[in-house]
Amino acid sequence: MSNQRIVHIATPAVGEEEFQACRECFETGWMTQGPKVAEFEKAFAERHEAGHALATSSCSTALHLILAAMDIKPGDEVIVPAFTWIATANAVLYCRATPIFVDIDPETFNIDPASVAAKITDKTRAVIAVHLFGLPADIDALREVTGDIPIVEDAACGAGAAYKGRPLGTFGVAGAFSFHPRKSISTGEGGMVVTNDDALAATMDKMRNHGAEISEAQRLHGPRPYLLPEFNVLGYNYRMTDLQGAVGLVQLGKLDAFIDERNHWADFYRRELAGLDWLRCPTAPADCRHAYQAFVTWVDPERSPQPRNVIMERLKMVGIATRPGTHAVHALGLYRDRFGLKPEDCPNAWAADRNSMAIPLHNRMTAEDYEYVVEQLKKIAGGAGKMCVCE
Ligand SMILES: *Cc1c(COP(=O)(O)O)cnc(C)c1O
Repeated sequence: MSNQRIVHIATPAVGEEEFQACRECFETGWMTQGPKVAEFEKAFAERHEAGHALATSSCSTALHLILAAMDIKPGDEVIVPAFTWIATANAVLYCRATPIFVDIDPETFNIDPASVAAKITDKTRAVIAVHLFGLPADIDALREVTGDIPIVEDAACGAGAAYKGRPLGTFGVAGAFSFHPRKSISTGEGGMVVTNDDALAATMDKMRNHGAEISEAQRLHGPRPYLLPEFNVLGYNYRMTDLQGAVGLVQLGKLDAFIDERNHWADFYRRELAGLDWLRCPTAPADCRHAYQAFVTWVDPERSPQPRNVIMERLKMVGIATRPGTHAVHALGLYRDRFGLKPEDCPNAWAADRNSMAIPLHNRMTAEDYEYVVEQLKKIAGGAGKMCVCE
């Protein structure tokens, strides 16, 4: 048992280069938001074809920053998909506004435009389009139902993905990215806002730095570095450190190679697992580039030889980590109790909560790891009927 293969669900692909990139910050002593963050922002904006990129401490704070800068307030409604990471909905609560949960398309796990249309009221101030697991949401269909209501992109999983040939983040008013270690590029914790709206960018720039009218760098390099800046709006400390900026810059240089590799192995899984009638693999429309932040399968409850959680337990026993894709946020205690929601209110999101299963796919896996995952999944099928529990 001691030399059993272990395949993690995600491992950040960082090493010597990222380590060396931090050196300069230690040598100059510039540790918080400074020149490295500025460089990272510039490169990120270019890669994502955005007018502005603003680094933050996480995607959660990036989402809050966008909504706060849009002046989302108590009484406002913000539409969010029910199947997402809890942070999407929490950002709405941080503004003391009301999250309105809508259902997802069970095929893509992404927000369902028809469900959005059914929930729009005169209080709807924004719709958050989550590009879940790196698959672009159906932006054109969403735009048809949202009309003038602003779309905010939760592109936490979407660095390097594309919708109809264009990178994510600027299809709506602003987009938020994550550099948590579960995502394709990582700075430990970290996030990024992109936007083409100059005024919104200026507001967010202040608000991420306590509301200060000018940044530390502007003040230090200005004529009177000894004077503190003026503060006119409520802000936060949502800054990224320069250490993270240095790491992010190196990681960004590897993004496209990472996404290519993820797509290669996603194709491999699809090919190798096609024979398992109980397991549906994710796909992407031909005009979308999937970033495969995660490879999230669907365990068909009718055909599966065993319940999903039993399969997850069995895979764990052979060293393979799995997870539910994410959760049905409307069914979590916080939201269920506060808003009187029931799991059945968003049936597809609830089914995805119960039946989705992410299997390992990341940039630290070897060909042998992928083959091992396939081999173990095939053993579960057993090939000898539903009752077979292979030893
Ligand atoms: C990871 C994730 C977030 C949160 O990102 P952090 O950087 O960890 O705050 C938000 N939304 C979605 C869809 C995510 O997957």
